[in-house]
Amino acid sequence: LKPIHVIGGGMAGTEATWQIAQSGIPVVLHEMRPVRKTDAHQGEGLAELVCSNSFRSDDYENNAVGLLHEEMRRLDSIIMASAALHMVPAGGALAVDRDNFSDEVTRRLETHPLVTIVREEIDALPPEEWDSVIMATGPLTSESMSTVIAGITGEEYLAFFDAIAPIVYKESINFDKAWFQSRYDKVGPMGDGADYINCPMNKEQYETFIQALIDSEKTDFKEWEENTPYFEGCLPIEVMASRGVETLRFGPMKPVGLTNPHSDEEPYAVVQLRQDNKLGTIYNIVGFQTKMKYGAQMEIFRAIPGLEEAEFARLGGLHRNTFLKSPKLLDSSLRMKPMPRLRFAGQITGVEGYVESAASGLMAGRFAAAERLGKELPAPPITTAHGALINHVTGGADAKTFQPMNVNFGIFPNIPRGPGKKVKKKDRKPLYSKRALEDLQTWYDENY
Ligand code: FAD
Repeated sequence: LKPIHVIGGGMAGTEATWQIAQSGIPVVLHEMRPVRKTDAHQGEGLAELVCSNSFRSDDYENNAVGLLHEEMRRLDSIIMASAALHMVPAGGALAVDRDNFSDEVTRRLETHPLVTIVREEIDALPPEEWDSVIMATGPLTSESMSTVIAGITGEEYLAFFDAIAPIVYKESINFDKAWFQSRYDKVGPMGDGADYINCPMNKEQYETFIQALIDSEKTDFKEWEENTPYFEGCLPIEVMASRGVETLRFGPMKPVGLTNPHSDEEPYAVVQLRQDNKLGTIYNIVGFQTKMKYGAQMEIFRAIPGLEEAEFARLGGLHRNTFLKSPKLLDSSLRMKPMPRLRFAGQITGVEGYVESAASGLMAGRFAAAERLGKELPAPPITTAHGALINHVTGGADAKTFQPMNVNFGIFPNIPRGPGKKVKKKDRKPLYSKRALEDLQTWYDENY
């Protein structure tokens, strides 16, 4: 069998390599370190954790990332198996000794008879004879490779920054205060004139809000991020606030074209939320990308009328991060539509986090292996953590506002609630997990 090539030996690339080799197919892994370094990696080991040593919650019954762990274990993940051997105490989280963990992954791949590891930077379009390639070069993809990718996709489909506005679960919004309406009731190609969720503010609330933004605690830019300028189009909300008290009222918070059905008083300013996934379960706060600390974000955003009880699928952020506009570019098996011999995996597809990156590598590896063996492997159902993540990045998310995303139950289809059988919120998470593990097993039995 001809080998499959994997570019990048991080969280996604190592997992993809393992999955391919375990399917009995030769695989060549190209990793540029130590020949060329990144701004964040310190060593030369594979699967290096660049920052925290935690894979977050390991509670698979109540937490979506814990569920992703469990699904990965059931799919023979090298990342989960190596983590299990090098755990350190971390309460309910799965955390590892980072050096031993990276050594373990490196050793397992180096000694696998079907794996060849080449330490080189791939700085041009992979040659045509590489008919199946997994690109897993990560959030810090080397400059030359970024140029190659932008050459295939077009500049506008590759982003270098994630400017994340907070994302809120719709069911946590108070519709006694908020309401659905598009500005001037405008009907778009998809909507019905009521596409946005609106939260009104009076003058006093607005001015207090602006002051809170200005006074809030911000996170620092990392040294290597400092030289990456803000784009004027996506300034952090607190930077806009500091430019003048009216800036936001003439920007994302302008109150025009909106009528509050709950009050005769005209809103002085309005916070708008836009649907973030096809399922309509999560909404982003329009224009609210931010560098405020997480605690400050929760406090300040919960002061917005209608969001007092808001639960966040993710909080805002702004980091250097190379990623594709995947919902437009990738098909459901992570192939690049304009050049299907290239598959993408990891953070560059717009998943966010060590575990999510590894999980997307796991699926990319399995898709590529099945293809090499002449089989068709459908993505796991959207009710599984793997399926929900892949669906999100390959079409479930809105391509226009696409930003990297952690796994969370907001990207899963809701648990159906039969008439009169409302499932209490606290009881819902274990049901998501139970359904996911059952559906993963069915998918596995049907395809292997
Ligand atoms: P990586 O793990 O970065 O792997 C990509 C690999 O590709 C690297 O080894 C790189 O050397 C190699 N490479 C790049 N270009 C080429 C090329 N042209 N040829 C050959 N090899 C190449 N997530 C968390 O869950 N927790 C955190 O604490 C966390 N902290 C982060 C801190 C920073 C500074 C950054 C940038 C990201 C962080 N992330 C964190 C997000 C993300 O989940 C990790 O970056 C994760 O490692 C991504 O996995 P990946 O496989 O996509 O990329």
